[in-house]
Amino acid sequence: MTQPPKPQKTTVALHRHLLAQAVSDWLNLNPSAWAELVEIVETVPLGDNCQQCEGNGGNPMRWPHDTDREGRWITGHYRCHVCKHTWTCHWNADQLNPALTWDL
Ligand SMILES: [Zn+2]
Repeated sequence: MTQPPKPQKTTVALHRHLLAQAVSDWLNLNPSAWAELVEIVETVPLGDNCQQCEGNGGNPMRWPHDTDREGRWITGHYRCHVCKHTWTCHWNADQLNPALTWDL
């Protein structure tokens, strides 16, 4: 009997490596951007697909360049770096996964 492959540990390790490499490369290009990096990480739960790019074979996931907060509601403002489409998306902070680290 053969066991099914267990790629998950390798995949997680690979993604961790790729993330660390991307962060390192980004900070090497812009060493004073640590606060911006933290801001980017904090918007991870607010990823949304660009409707213009969806279906073109690429990854349409984008993250907000700015946010507005009103109580437990967050409005993300998005600008696709590929097709330049802009849109907003409203999020309930209590339903985000992973949960926000922000103080609301
Ligand atoms: Zn797009």
